[in-house]
Amino acid sequence: MTKARKAILRALENTTEPTSVTELAKQLSDFCDPATVYRNLHYLEKNSLATSFVLHCSEHGTERYYSAKAGKGHHHWFHCESCHRFIDLGGCFYTEQMRQFESEHGFTIHDHTFYLTGVCQSCKEELGL
Ligand SMILES: [Zn+2]
Ligand SMILES: [Zn+2]
Ligand SMILES: [Zn+2]
Repeated sequence: MTKARKAILRALENTTEPTSVTELAKQLSDFCDPATVYRNLHYLEKNSLATSFVLHCSEHGTERYYSAKAGKGHHHWFHCESCHRFIDLGGCFYTEQMRQFESEHGFTIHDHTFYLTGVCQSCKEELGL
């Protein structure tokens, strides 16, 4: 594994929230350029070391967010539209439902994304909601 790839993987493993490509490129800017970050994330995902999903939010636009597979892997998330933090909703709770869809429709499911958006508790308090 190249140095850059290791650094990217370490950065993903050291965080509890999904991290956007932009954010990772910023964190690793002393170390490698954004194109290298992007290319290596692609590699890590292709080799099942990382997982990602696309989320659109008012502050950051449309971004791909990555997690290390060794860490959280596929999780469900809540994204606060005010402070833009992710709240972990835990591991997948749809395994049973997926199996049902597969037998009902005859297809094979490889992946899915689950996230909720809204306003978190502390932002609600701050905003007086
Ligand atoms: Zn919030
Ligand atoms: Zn956001
Ligand atoms: Zn899931």
